[in-house]
Amino acid sequence: MKVAVFSTKPYDREFLTQANALLAQPHELVFHETQLNTHSALLAQGCQAVCCFVNDHVDADVLQQLAAQGVTLVALRCAGFNQVDLAAAKNLGITVARVADYSPHAVAEHALGLMLMLNRHLHRAYHRVRENDYSLNGLLGFDMVNKVVAVIGTGKIGEVFARIALGLGCKLIAYDPQPNQALVEAGVTYVPLEQLWPQADVISLHCPLNSSTHHLINSESIARMKEGVMIINTGRGGLIDTRAVISGLKSKKIGHLGLDVYEEEGDLFFEDNSNQLLQDDVFARLLTFPNVVVTGHQAFFTREALTAIARVTLANITHFEHNERDKMCTVN
Ligand code: NAD
Repeated sequence: MKVAVFSTKPYDREFLTQANALLAQPHELVFHETQLNTHSALLAQGCQAVCCFVNDHVDADVLQQLAAQGVTLVALRCAGFNQVDLAAAKNLGITVARVADYSPHAVAEHALGLMLMLNRHLHRAYHRVRENDYSLNGLLGFDMVNKVVAVIGTGKIGEVFARIALGLGCKLIAYDPQPNQALVEAGVTYVPLEQLWPQADVISLHCPLNSSTHHLINSESIARMKEGVMIINTGRGGLIDTRAVISGLKSKKIGHLGLDVYEEEGDLFFEDNSNQLLQDDVFARLLTFPNVVVTGHQAFFTREALTAIARVTLANITHFEHNERDKMCTVN
């Protein structure tokens, strides 16, 4: 099948090309650096499928253009699908597939990294030592053992993160409309959100972004949290109302903030903007706090995850080509 692959970086091309070469019937992959949007959708001309990533614009307009060119499959090379207008895709007869399960460890371990980095101020310690400054003022952390860690969304990634935190000796509470029985047996206590906010020392977000989770972290939920709470978001940027979080940081209600995702990341992340002026004042304000660490949507970025993403994405395309819908991971 001929596939237009959008938002590709050298590493995408490397892993997809390697996985494609292993197929009995390789696909024709046409790589594009540009994001998929209304201006670039024409690049899918002659292709039956498009392959997209987290910040591609797969809205109704774009889908309409794709359908008009004969595209019948959107193969996402990511787990989240909040960037796709699923209703429009369904109306246009376009199937949307995703990679549901590539390496939950990659993301969970990155969340752990952010949590420990913020707690022990490693981001500041790194710079101090390089400046010949070995003072410890401002670097005081806390033992993780016995701290209450709250996991919101205990699917594949949330489960791995919860188990890692249990391994650190933390007390685990969680919220998920569909509790995970294996975690209950491992010692995780499910509580409603109103009970979660005031108990948690650390809150880690692992739920999908949808209408019920948009701005889950907002001024009201922040007001109910513990003084000095740590919030970690490796889910999706829209889970957090960034302005509310900035107010929480200024009032010291929020003691630490670790982000791998940001609600307006589409214009920033995955690119080298070091020669540009940062135009996003809200993001710029976030970067001024010493107790905030931001990474540019890299939680998924391990060798194992990229290998699995490439393999599953191409398998979805192959199954679609062979009319084996039951073997695909579809979302509509
Ligand atoms: P998953 O589908 O296995 O788990 C999601 C869990 O969230 C499910 O258990 C579901 O019941 C729960 N959930 C749904 N609505 C909820 C709500 N309102 N409140 C609380 N929980 C709710 O997904 P996953 O593979 O664990 O991935 C979770 C999210 O992580 C993805 O949706 C994606 O947005 C994000 N993600 C980020 C990266 C990254 O690189 N930063 C990589 C992969 C995934």
